[in-house]
Amino acid sequence: MCGIVGIVGHQPVSERLVEALKRLEYRGYDSAGVATIDAGTLQRRRAEGKLVNLESRLREEPLAGTIGIAHTRWATHGAPTERNAHPHFTEGVAVVHNGIIENFAELKDELAAAGAEFQTETDTEVVAHLLAKYRRDGLGRREAMHAMLKRVKGAYALAVLFEDDPSTIMAARNGPPLAIGHGNGEMFLGSDAIALAPFTNEITYLIDGDWAVIGKTGVHIFDFDGNVVERPRQISTAAAFLVDKGNHRHFMEKEIYEQPEVIAHALGHYVNFIENRVVPISDAIDFGKVPSLAISACGTAYLAGLIGKYWFERYARLPVEIDVASEFRYREIPLSPQSAALFISQSGETADTLA
Ligand code: GLU
Repeated sequence: MCGIVGIVGHQPVSERLVEALKRLEYRGYDSAGVATIDAGTLQRRRAEGKLVNLESRLREEPLAGTIGIAHTRWATHGAPTERNAHPHFTEGVAVVHNGIIENFAELKDELAAAGAEFQTETDTEVVAHLLAKYRRDGLGRREAMHAMLKRVKGAYALAVLFEDDPSTIMAARNGPPLAIGHGNGEMFLGSDAIALAPFTNEITYLIDGDWAVIGKTGVHIFDFDGNVVERPRQISTAAAFLVDKGNHRHFMEKEIYEQPEVIAHALGHYVNFIENRVVPISDAIDFGKVPSLAISACGTAYLAGLIGKYWFERYARLPVEIDVASEFRYREIPLSPQSAALFISQSGETADTLA
């Protein structure tokens, strides 16, 4: 999955937003965009492909403004074109979204029947139209946000700008992570603390169902029912060096060379390499009592799962079913209550696997 960043502050934001997006490049994406509010008007630049394309768009036509949101898109609904790239605009509302709005088709029909004109093929655009509709119905910005969240189903990290409030970003999380960064008279939003590392290491993570109203000096967080909630402020250890390519040309090359170390780190939790023995885990599953295992994952994680299937069957003699997560969700596998399930996601954010 792709990334979201936002800054509400007192200095120009567009370059910093793109810098923050670069720190999310490791997640993969196919297009990108940025929106700011400049002199009371929403503006955006978008581009297909790599962030260098967005940067050259911004050089041709710079974007002023001290508040903005930005996005790297990994298309799920609609081709990876500039037209489908986020942020999506409608009637003074700007939206970026990671994830999938599962009931977008019925919402789109409903909104279109009421006169909404859709510009893109994305699922995300229904969020912008819903917000615009609730504003037209007379709801305030927060009420509109809350009403929208009550209607959409699926996995989302969302960031929203309202043109008539150039000092607030709204955000919501259900599935993909969102981190809020506390700065000095500026506040930040990002898919992870790594994106925000150059700006701040004071982070508040939203949890699923949370939504937030972020101003220059602080954040108000609400739960799904609209109650004010407190989430802890933490000091992140996501140091800037984590996302460097080091002396490698590509992240992929770097990751290939990192495999021995990364695998050692992972195994280090379970194996005492000095005494050469497995560390007992107190709440581990007793595979001797499990009749079968169902593995679900997507993409490369699915391929990893296939290897897992071979090993579980061969060494543990455990029957294993494996599915692409998007199939597992909708297939009704007759699993016994004692059987175990294993979900694999490299990013930890694959929408279908999380769902
Ligand atoms: N489902 C949205 C789209 O296709 C968001 C994809 C993403 O997570 O970047 O535009």
